[in-house]
Amino acid sequence: MSETVLELRNVTRAFELSQGAFRRAAKLTAVADVSLKVGRGEVFALVGESGSGKTTLAKMLLGLLPPTSGEILVDGMPISPKDRVAVSRRVQPIFQDPYSSLNPRKSVAQLIALPLIVHGVGDRTTRRAQVLAMLDRVGLSPRHYDAYPGQLSGGQRQRVAIARALILKPEVVICDEPTSALDVSVQAQILNLLLELKRELGLTYFFISHNLAVVEHLADRVAVMYLGRFVEERTRAGLFASPRHPYTRVLLESVLTPDPDLGVPDTRIGTAAGMPASELGCPFEPRCPSAAEVCRTTVPMVRTLPDGWTTCHLIEEEAAIVP
Ligand code: SF4
Repeated sequence: MSETVLELRNVTRAFELSQGAFRRAAKLTAVADVSLKVGRGEVFALVGESGSGKTTLAKMLLGLLPPTSGEILVDGMPISPKDRVAVSRRVQPIFQDPYSSLNPRKSVAQLIALPLIVHGVGDRTTRRAQVLAMLDRVGLSPRHYDAYPGQLSGGQRQRVAIARALILKPEVVICDEPTSALDVSVQAQILNLLLELKRELGLTYFFISHNLAVVEHLADRVAVMYLGRFVEERTRAGLFASPRHPYTRVLLESVLTPDPDLGVPDTRIGTAAGMPASELGCPFEPRCPSAAEVCRTTVPMVRTLPDGWTTCHLIEEEAAIVP
């Protein structure tokens, strides 16, 4: 892997759930002890069902939510929610819905220039030149400079959101389901644009998606998240060719049967909603089609694989390939 640009060290985020005046608050662990390293120029994808903790993790990466414990570093320096402005210089988001993420009362020029103004970059003349150059880079024309979001199509709005995210040349871009609100015909254009911009500008993407076809198209490495925990982390090629964790296998089998209303894979084991993780053993045990007795009582250890790792009692350790 190239030089590490994003690192998470044992990051956990828990929430207290109020249960009324006379009962002690319950604790929900949305993200549990997650560690990872993302190399510069890499596309690291995170997949999992709704409620798996992907959005909570994204909020922590953007400095919108502090971890309960653990540390998040960009270029070796911790990011702190206490300094949102500094975080936004280094980490920028592209959200799912370009209809709600752009202020309809601001022009395209104002929307794209805002990060430059907040960070005191350039003057009016240089900012105009930067915005025009960025419009060109994302496939919009100078005539869009004074347009308003309401005058643009969904794909054009997402191009504006991408331009705004990239204008500060961030170290890491968090792409949170960036195409799922768009027409299918536009999705491929936006994905190809993201890949082109990554190559041109040397960007690093942390890509969150429930859409495994999208992940297969553009990820270098993939982590699979289940109830707040990573259960498998592999190269894209390895994961799609031979998924090892039973949950990953179920997710991949479900690719052809997405539930259009829920926007989550229609897995043959139901959804995780309302399904508690096993307290003592493997978190996936209550839903796992391959569960054995040991799975109920013992948390599985990490098993090293030639191209990553997984956590399952039924999988033998395989020697990692030393380059
Ligand atoms: Fe299934 Fe057991 Fe593996 Fe967990 S450890 S994924 S329950 S087989």
